[in-house]
Amino acid sequence: MAPIQLKDSEQQQSGCLSNIFSRFTRSASSPSTSSSNEKFIYSAVDPMEDLPPYEDIVKSMQKLDVKCDSEIEAIINKEINSISDELREISLDLHENVETGMKEVHAHNVLTAYLEKKGFKVTRHAYGMETAFTAEYSRGSGRRIGVCSEYDGLPGLGQGCGHNLIAISGLATAIGIKAALDSGKASGKVVLFGTPAEELSIGKIVLVSKGAFQENVDVCLMLHPAAYNHQHAAFIAIHDVRVEFFGKPSHASAAPWVGVNALDALVQVWNGISMMRQQLMPTDRVHGIVTDGGQAPNVIPEHTSAFFFVRTTRANQIGRLQKKLENIFEAAALATGCKVKYTWREIGVTKDVIQNRPLANFYAQHMEKYGIEFPSEEDQIRAGGGSTDFGNISYEMPSIQPFYGIHTTAANHTIEFTAAAKTMAAHKDTITASKCMAATGVEVLLNDDYYNSVQRNFKENQVEFTAEVSEVGKPACNYI
Ligand SMILES: [Zn+2]
Repeated sequence: MAPIQLKDSEQQQSGCLSNIFSRFTRSASSPSTSSSNEKFIYSAVDPMEDLPPYEDIVKSMQKLDVKCDSEIEAIINKEINSISDELREISLDLHENVETGMKEVHAHNVLTAYLEKKGFKVTRHAYGMETAFTAEYSRGSGRRIGVCSEYDGLPGLGQGCGHNLIAISGLATAIGIKAALDSGKASGKVVLFGTPAEELSIGKIVLVSKGAFQENVDVCLMLHPAAYNHQHAAFIAIHDVRVEFFGKPSHASAAPWVGVNALDALVQVWNGISMMRQQLMPTDRVHGIVTDGGQAPNVIPEHTSAFFFVRTTRANQIGRLQKKLENIFEAAALATGCKVKYTWREIGVTKDVIQNRPLANFYAQHMEKYGIEFPSEEDQIRAGGGSTDFGNISYEMPSIQPFYGIHTTAANHTIEFTAAAKTMAAHKDTITASKCMAATGVEVLLNDDYYNSVQRNFKENQVEFTAEVSEVGKPACNYI
């Protein structure tokens, strides 16, 4: 394939970097595969447009006028290297002293004390959450870079998702950006957000609802450890519902006809969901547990309850699944004569993550300098993923949450991953990824064209990701 040729007029209008990115944001794939890859294209696309292949774009990006040059990179890297031992200590402390969501008092205290020592203006117990914090540092006027740290562990598994590493990656990234500001070669602001209870999908959703990110930063960056490197890491939307059935108790042998069986209703729900799965899209997930199945075998159950998660690729499709589940709940109530009550999670949907492509690829480009390789975007997205409250930030501003490999083959949320999260290799990987993330943040501070491309990609994604979704799979008959 020939290298990208830009029209002269385009070059003059907005600079070469923004042109490259404006094209880059339209498709990450070869034009020859554009139709088969349509579902992986996030932004508004003219499928007939002749787009250059991914490899050519990456090569062209490498030749671009990158503002975070080797001198600034050296400043960032030197600073992060100099605090590596201190970060290792904090990481092991958080690995040893695990706290679950909204109870991360020790982590909150350790991280805020460290940031204060490093010259940040710290706000403890931020936005009404006991274990949330912010730490900011600015020099001159300019753009504002948000960085997130997580620190909660998993019950029974400890740091099975490596949030001790996320905590220090946030510190390293923010301190690296601060070093660039202190050098006088960049101006602007960096804000580190301490975001509690990711495993409960609470902290960032509350912070977004209070405008914490929207009012204070222009982009948001966070790293997440994994078994592999994915700059376009896929995270899907999730919502949850608690359903209860209310019947009437009676002796299960002497007078069962007097009772109204709330467990029958729950079994109907289970069967209804099982049958519905055949009609779901391959990317939809519904899974749950029974939380109350009755009290005694010789009593017709008066009360039963269950707890379900529903997931799909995009937040704007969650409503489609909600409707299906509500129909199943209502149908079960009608069939059994029970009363039904269902409650969707009060703080709302945990949205999928919109990975900002220019941010993601710039970060990856830096990682590639360390010999780290990334699979194709299609392979990354095909690998699927869980869900994270970071998604709600990504709907508000350009954001990335790449996965970086920590020299393990273990999946997150396993005891093996808990062990991997405290190795020296994982620490070194975290330091490397943080350097690349800090360089990405500094590029946003320095480079207008790059920032414009970041914003343009965000706006294009927003149009698509928030579009109304037609109701797929609407029931053919309505029993009401
Ligand atoms: Zn995690």
